[in-house]
Amino acid sequence: MTSNDFSSARPTPRHDLESSSAATVSAGPDPGPSPADLLRRLRARSAGDPVTHVERVPARAGVPAPWPSWAPVELRAAFTRRGVVAPWQHQAEAANLAYEGEHVVVATGTASGKSLAYQLPALATLLADPRATVLYLAPTKALAADQLRSVAALELEGVRPACYDGDTPRAEREWIRRHSRFVLTNPDMLHHGVLPGHAQWSGFLRRLAYVVIDECHTYRGVFGSHVAHVLRRLRRQCARFGATPVFVLASATSGDPATAAGRLTGLPVTAVTEDASPRGGVTFALWEPPLLPPDSSASSAVPAQATGGHDGATDLIQVRRSALRETADLLADTVAEGVRTLAFVRSRKGAEVVAASARRALDDAVPGLGDRVAAYRGGYLREERRELERALLHGDLLGLASTNALELGVDLVGLDAVLICGYPGTRASLWQQAGRAGRSGQEALAVLVARDDPLDTYLVHHPEAIFGAPVEATVLDPTNPYVLAPQLACAAVEAPLTPADLALFGDGAKEAVDELVAAGALRQRPTGWYWRHRERPEVDLRGQGGAPVCVVESSTGRLLGTVDGGSSHFLLHSGAVHLHQGVSYVVDELDLADGCALVHAEEPDWSTHARDVTDLSVVSVRSYVDAGPVGMFLGEVDVTSQVVSYQRRRIATGEVIDTRPLDLPTRELRTVAVWFTLSPQSLALAGVQSADVPGALHAAEHAAIGLLPLMATCDRWDIGGLSTAVHPDTEAPTVFVYDGHPGGAGFAERAYGTASAWLRATRDAIAECGCEAGCPSCVQSPKCGNGNNPLSKPDAIRVLDVVLANLPA
Ligand SMILES: [Zn+2]
Ligand SMILES: [Zn+2]
Repeated sequence: MTSNDFSSARPTPRHDLESSSAATVSAGPDPGPSPADLLRRLRARSAGDPVTHVERVPARAGVPAPWPSWAPVELRAAFTRRGVVAPWQHQAEAANLAYEGEHVVVATGTASGKSLAYQLPALATLLADPRATVLYLAPTKALAADQLRSVAALELEGVRPACYDGDTPRAEREWIRRHSRFVLTNPDMLHHGVLPGHAQWSGFLRRLAYVVIDECHTYRGVFGSHVAHVLRRLRRQCARFGATPVFVLASATSGDPATAAGRLTGLPVTAVTEDASPRGGVTFALWEPPLLPPDSSASSAVPAQATGGHDGATDLIQVRRSALRETADLLADTVAEGVRTLAFVRSRKGAEVVAASARRALDDAVPGLGDRVAAYRGGYLREERRELERALLHGDLLGLASTNALELGVDLVGLDAVLICGYPGTRASLWQQAGRAGRSGQEALAVLVARDDPLDTYLVHHPEAIFGAPVEATVLDPTNPYVLAPQLACAAVEAPLTPADLALFGDGAKEAVDELVAAGALRQRPTGWYWRHRERPEVDLRGQGGAPVCVVESSTGRLLGTVDGGSSHFLLHSGAVHLHQGVSYVVDELDLADGCALVHAEEPDWSTHARDVTDLSVVSVRSYVDAGPVGMFLGEVDVTSQVVSYQRRRIATGEVIDTRPLDLPTRELRTVAVWFTLSPQSLALAGVQSADVPGALHAAEHAAIGLLPLMATCDRWDIGGLSTAVHPDTEAPTVFVYDGHPGGAGFAERAYGTASAWLRATRDAIAECGCEAGCPSCVQSPKCGNGNNPLSKPDAIRVLDVVLANLPA
C-alpha cells in the first residue's frame, strides 16, 4: 500500500529500512532454521510429498536512477528528508513520461514505490506553477487518507493537500474547492459530488494538470466500467474549461496493463512494468494437500464450510485433506521451530479455526506453547491490532493467522515464514501476502497451500503461471449498455450531450442516447441532447445485477451487509445458511419487495445448497471462430433462471438431509457469453459415449469457470455457465460461459480472446488432479445448481482435447 511504498523507495538493502522503522525489529528472536531446512522438515512430517514445486525467488538489488533534472531542489530535499536518496529506475521512467505529458501506467510489484512515480511529476508541477492542481483518486477512503499523510508530510508550500469524501465536513468543503491544489477523493465522490457540482469546481478543474488513479486494477468488471465513464465525464468537464490533464495510473502487476488503463481512461496509455526496486530472497513452495484414504472423508476435523463466505457454500465430499487443516499443521510446526509465521486464510472463521487448531497441537506437545499463536480477527481496535503486530515482530508471539494483508499494518514485514491458505484470487494479492516474509537480509519461506479448487490445482502444477509473466488482466467493458446509458444520463445532466461527446463515450453511445430519447429521458434540440427531468438519475457505481439485497438481523435490526442482487436468490433464500464474516446466520425470510433478507444468528450442523433451472438463448453473435468440428463464439445471450429448491446437507459427512422447495420468481439476464460447440461425430471419435456427453460437457464447464480467473481478474461468482448435449440455438453439444452481470462485464470477452490458453489450462487442471472420478479440486463446483450431477472427469478431458486440437492457438 501507499505508505510503505516509500520505505522501499530508497536504494538501500531491506535491513536498513527495518532498523529505521519503529514498528519493525532490527534484533528479533534468534534466527531459526534456514528456509530450505525448514521446508525439508515440514515435508518430512507430511505423508507423501505434498510439495509440487519450490521456487527460489532471489534477492534483487535495486536499480537507482538520477533525480529528473526538472525536479525542483525543494522537492528532492523533501523526499530526501524522508529517506529517499534517489528514485528507482521505474519510478524515474514513469515520472519522466508523465512530466512530458504522456499518460502512463506504472504496473510493478507491491511496495515497489509506485507513489513516487506520480508524486514526483505532480508535485513538481504544483511547485513550478502556483495555479496548477492535481486530483488523486483511490478506491477507498482509507487509502486516500494514507496518501494524504504521505503528501502532507513533505510539507511543501502552497500545495495544501486535502481529502474530499463523504466524511469531509460541509464547512471544509468550500475551502478545499477554493484553496487545495492536491485533492484526494474516490470515484464515488467524483461521481456523486464533484461532477454534479462542476460549477463550484470550475476553478479547480480549469487548472487541473494531473489525474492520479491509484490501485487502478481494482476498477474491474461492472464497477470498473462505471468508473471508466466517470473518468470520461471528468475529461469532458475539464475540456469545457480548457484543461487536458495528464493521467498517471498505478496498478498491481498484471497482464497487459496498458490496454486495461487505456480502456479505463479512454486514452492511449504507456506502461512501465520493469520493477527496479530491491527485494529480499524468498523460498516459495507450492503445497498440495494429500488425497485422503478412501472412506475417511468424515474424519476431517475442519468442516469445509469453515472456509467461509461464498466459498463456504460447499461441503462437497472431501477427497483431499483440507487446506485449513494443512495450514494449521504447518503453522504449529513452524511455531514449534521458533519461526515467526504469518498465516493468511480467506475468511475470519477460517483464520480462527487455523489458530485454534495450531494452539491445540502446540499445547499437546508443550503445555503453554499454544499461547504464542493468535488469530487476527476483525473487530479489533486499531491499538489492539498494532499490539498484536508488535508482539509478532518482537517474537513474543510466534504465529498469527489473519484474513487479509490489507487489514494488517504496513510495517508488518520481515517475518520468517508466510503461509497462504488458498490462492487469494489474484497474483497481486498473492505477492502482497508473500511480501510480508523476509527480514534483515535473510531468506524467508513462503508456502501456498492449495485449496479444493480447479484454479489452485492448476497453479500448484503450473508454477510458471505464478512465477512467470502474468497473464491475468484487469477487464472492464465500457460498451456495456447497462452502464453506458445511465452514465450518459448523468453526463447529460452535467451539460447537454453533443455529437462530439458520443465519440468520447465510445462504441454504443449513439444507440444508448437514442434509447434514452425514446424512453423520454433525453430531448434532442439543435444544440444537443438535454436531460428532461428535474431530478438527477440515481446511478450506483457499485450496484451489480440489480439492487443489492440487505442482510438484516431480525432481533436487532442491525444491517450486517449486502449481497448483490444477482446471487441473492441463491444465497439468501429462506432457510439458507448464510456466512457473514465467518459468523453463521440462518435466513428467516427473503423480502424481494423491500430488497432485504431477515436473518438470525445460528450455527446449524448442516449447510444449504440452492438448486436452479437455467435456460439460455442466443440473441446475437459478435464474433466466432469456425474450426471444423469445433466452433468458438462470443455474443449476447438471454439467461432465464429460477431457484427452485435447496438441499440441506450435514457438514461433517455431506449426507443430504432433505430437499425443500422454494417459491421464487424467474429472473432474466441479458448478458455476454463465450461458448463452444463440438460436432457429435468428433466426440464419438474421441471415445465419448453419447450417454456421457452431458457429464463430459458439464465437467468441462465447471473447470473452465474455475480457471477463468487465471486470464481475467474475476472470481467464479462473477460468471455463470450452462452446458447441454444439444442446444436449440446451436444444434450441437455446447458449453456456455457467461458474465453474471447485465450487459456483460468483460470476462466472457477476455475468455474468448484467450480461448486456447484458457481451455488448455482447464484441461491440464483436470488431468493433473490426482482424484479418481472428479472432486472439488477439478470438476466439481460449489455453486452448481444441479448438485454436481452428471459429471464425467475423463470425458471432460476428451472434450477439451477435441477443442484444443482444432482451435487455432
Ligand atoms: Zn479432482
Ligand atoms: Zn453445474
